[in-house]
Amino acid sequence: MMKHYDAIVIGGGILGCMTARNLRRWNISTLLLEKGDDVCRGITRANSAIVYAGYDNKPGSLKAELTVRGNAGMESLCGELEVPFSRCGSLMVGYDADSVQKMEQKLRNGEQNGVPGLRLLTGAEAEAMEPALRKGVTAALYAPTTGMVNPWQLGIAAYENALQNGAEAMLRTEVTGIRREDGGYVLTTSRGEFAAKTVFNCAGLYADQVQELLFAPTVRLDLDGAEYLVFDPLAPKPERIIFLQADSCGKGITAIPCVEGNLLVSGIRKPLKEPFATTAEGLEELHRAAKELLPDVEPALVIRSFGAVRPNPYREDGESLHDFCIENPAPGFYSLIGVKTPGLTASHELGLLLAQKAAGYLGTEGNPNFDPKRKAIGKARKPDYREVICQCGKITRGEILDAIRRGATTVDGVKRRVGTGMGPCQGGRCAWKIAKILSQTGANPNPLF
Ligand SMILES: Cc1cc2nc3c(=O)[nH]c(=O)nc-3n(C[C@H](O)[C@H](O)[C@H](O)COP(=O)(O)OP(=O)(O)OC[C@H]3O[C@@H](n4cnc5c(N)ncnc54)[C@H](O)[C@@H]3O)c2cc1C
Repeated sequence: MMKHYDAIVIGGGILGCMTARNLRRWNISTLLLEKGDDVCRGITRANSAIVYAGYDNKPGSLKAELTVRGNAGMESLCGELEVPFSRCGSLMVGYDADSVQKMEQKLRNGEQNGVPGLRLLTGAEAEAMEPALRKGVTAALYAPTTGMVNPWQLGIAAYENALQNGAEAMLRTEVTGIRREDGGYVLTTSRGEFAAKTVFNCAGLYADQVQELLFAPTVRLDLDGAEYLVFDPLAPKPERIIFLQADSCGKGITAIPCVEGNLLVSGIRKPLKEPFATTAEGLEELHRAAKELLPDVEPALVIRSFGAVRPNPYREDGESLHDFCIENPAPGFYSLIGVKTPGLTASHELGLLLAQKAAGYLGTEGNPNFDPKRKAIGKARKPDYREVICQCGKITRGEILDAIRRGATTVDGVKRRVGTGMGPCQGGRCAWKIAKILSQTGANPNPLF
């Protein structure tokens, strides 16, 4: 017999996970459907991991409002979910003669958005603050509230907390059809049919196609790519996130000191050749730009590169959309289409907003048993937690077994739960041991795939 829910969330990226978690603040029975074998493996897996301050967004827009609020609430969210967060601050630097005017404009924007603590700096002040920068800065904008969080850890933590609060989830379950029935919706999937009074389409790069399973097109996605370099934690790095002002020297790259201790350099936009792939030309350009911004950074210290995909939303008439786009083509059906930067920063706020819409539509009471707290995987006083498997991160067999108990079925799934394979050897020394543990526990007989 077909199971019925109050809400079905399509897509287990950070937005779907945050939506499912927030839906459980009310007595809303919730099912999350994810087509992949794990959550947070789409856009959420490959991005810049920045908690934006909110000075870049258009005053009065939903993006500006939710980004500033998302930023302000990040300590408390990460505290509840036990996810590391660093409020490291950021400097936007310019090297052009007209940088001062551009920074002033951003400052005014930020002040209108209610971003606290913004300050314009002279080039000399910026260089004193961040000695790793190439000399010659003409102006800088300091934003003390910018921060860093690991996007997939935050998403997985929200997912675990949603399950802990009674949400259900099905992985490897692709939504392939949607129809209206009895005032609600029936979703056809690769694993049967499910009915719900409300549907939340959080399908990331495919959100336009998922909405079109039932409705005429309204917003479509144009995809492009970005490339990233990850440096060894030993590489010299700035203390704060550095944004090279776009069109200053023709480029807009970002240097990010990650919560894990690595330097991440990102930002060359390019046409998409293959999703999540990197290109020789793109990486070469990024290397050059990184060296220009941070002269002491050595290319030899790059330990990984990766590609990312941006969903750029536009209306049928070709108009690009710059605000967060929440489509509501019929009562009880909501689509987040093309939520790119700063979707991570605003992820909890977007999830909460959708859950509030569901509660209003369904007329549901709050859930007095909702527990916002989730415990991170840690070390215990047991023998398994003394056997180090990942030498770079000093991660033990016990932690890996905990990751498997919480749903990891691949080497990558373990990595994203406990941070194995993130150090200088990038899993060269531990991947095979983790694969063995996965197959010994029966979590996955063929864990590398
Ligand atoms: C290059 C880049 C850099 C960024 N940097 C930042 C940043 O520094 N700070 C910030 O705040 N934001 C940043 N963002 C934005 C942020 O990363 C995204 O807004 C966020 O990760 C989007 O998450 P999502 O859940 O929508 O998508 P995803 O993570 O892609 O999740 C969507 C999920 O839906 C599933 N799915 C799709 N179709 C179906 C189907 N038919 N049935 C079932 N499941 C389905 C997919 O498998 C996937 O798991 C960046 C984005 C990009 C692209």
